Amino acid sequence: MEWITRKAEKLGSLGSLVSAASRSLWDLLLPAHRPRAKPLVLDSVLTCPACGHAKAERMPLDACQWFYECEACATLLRPKPGDCCVFCSYGTQRCPSAQAGGAAACCRPVSSPS
Ligand SMILES: [Zn+2]
Repeated sequence: MEWITRKAEKLGSLGSLVSAASRSLWDLLLPAHRPRAKPLVLDSVLTCPACGHAKAERMPLDACQWFYECEACATLLRPKPGDCCVFCSYGTQRCPSAQAGGAAACCRPVSSPS
């Protein structure tokens, strides 16, 4: 009977090895969208710096929005220096990728050296 126990132990350690490997693979493939305990906020209220008009917008999950045209005064908003998108600059919430990965990880290509 002893060999059965040994075999089960071997399978058990192999199983945890596989799940650990797939977890790190997941992190590698989706660095900016890793599941976190904190849920992402997708709705942000953009406030136009030119006229003060505020508008609730839903942020895209897979991309950062660089340009936004104010519906009240037609000013084309662009991100401030250091910000990745108009939501980070003028919105009440930072964009989903900044929320998930922090400002440093936001919108950075996966392959680029840090
Ligand atoms: Zn405006």
